[in-house]
Amino acid sequence: MKRRASRPIKIGEVTIGGGAPIVVQSMTKTDTRDIKSTIEQIKELEGCGCELVRAAVPDAKAARAISAIKKGISIPIIADIHFDYRLALMALEAGADGLRLNPGNISDPEKVTAVVKAARERSVPIRIGVNAGSLPKTANRQLTVSQQMVEAALQQIRLLESLDFDLIKVSLKAFDVPTTIEAYRDIAQKMPYPLHIGITEAGTPKRGVIRSAVGIGILLSQGIGDTIRVSLTAHPREEVIAAYEILKSLDMRQHGPILVSCPSCGRAEVDIIELAEQVEEKLEKIDRPIKVAVMGCVVNGPGEAKYADIGIACGKGRAVLFKKGKKLRTLQEKDFLTALMAEVGRL
Ligand code: SF4
Repeated sequence: MKRRASRPIKIGEVTIGGGAPIVVQSMTKTDTRDIKSTIEQIKELEGCGCELVRAAVPDAKAARAISAIKKGISIPIIADIHFDYRLALMALEAGADGLRLNPGNISDPEKVTAVVKAARERSVPIRIGVNAGSLPKTANRQLTVSQQMVEAALQQIRLLESLDFDLIKVSLKAFDVPTTIEAYRDIAQKMPYPLHIGITEAGTPKRGVIRSAVGIGILLSQGIGDTIRVSLTAHPREEVIAAYEILKSLDMRQHGPILVSCPSCGRAEVDIIELAEQVEEKLEKIDRPIKVAVMGCVVNGPGEAKYADIGIACGKGRAVLFKKGKKLRTLQEKDFLTALMAEVGRL
């Protein structure tokens, strides 16, 4: 898959753009002023593979907390700023590795200039994070929403460039997938900076994961996107898990196991749904990128199981266990789960 060429930036030690692997990020849902809880949540996210984290900075206490939070975590932290540019200055002072500014909420060129100067002194990148729900008051309402989003970002880019600042990353998020895709496709041709992509306010996991996968997946398949966040009304670990599943589906990143399981049907003679769920739960504790297949019968079972690192093709009360395409042995039903997981462990 050919990716759009973008100018790389570094947030802490993490490279975004320039052909670097697509970075998975999330956002804390704790009160940033609660340093202990925020560190705990970020540590959990690190454990799931989160590579960048953003934290809301609603006031000065939250901005100052970044300094202590940074001491307890291993990934770069981005300060999310709205309305008050002074909070951006404080967050930089506290050691934030990146800033997110919304041009709809901080647009006064003098205030933006003050932030850009402070970011430049520290070589801290700024994400110009446009959101369809908070477009600048000055936006031309004759234009479509996606055009207004692009225009808002380009205006801010021009301002930052005029200040000799190019550590820029851009996002243009909307809840509406076609609007989001239109906006990203448009801006991708108009500027060289890396793109943070996502569908905003996508909802609870049941629907939000699908909405995000459609939007992010379409953009990534067109080569657009350097870092992703799946925005879900859920614990942020769900966002990280979903982000990796999207990237794995497109073969863009490897992260943990891949489970291939058939949907089951009237031909299955074992409870394949229960077995697949049990295998999935056990695989969650493994971080190696192995492929495991759980198949219900002889129709596709042996074929899929053969392509996996470890596979099981079930029949009535018995199953064939495969390893790297070769038949290992026949299992009795009571041993399906333990024998399969034992082979996974050996691998
Ligand atoms: Fe049905 Fe067999 Fe296909 Fe599973 S592998 S869905 S049991 S036909």
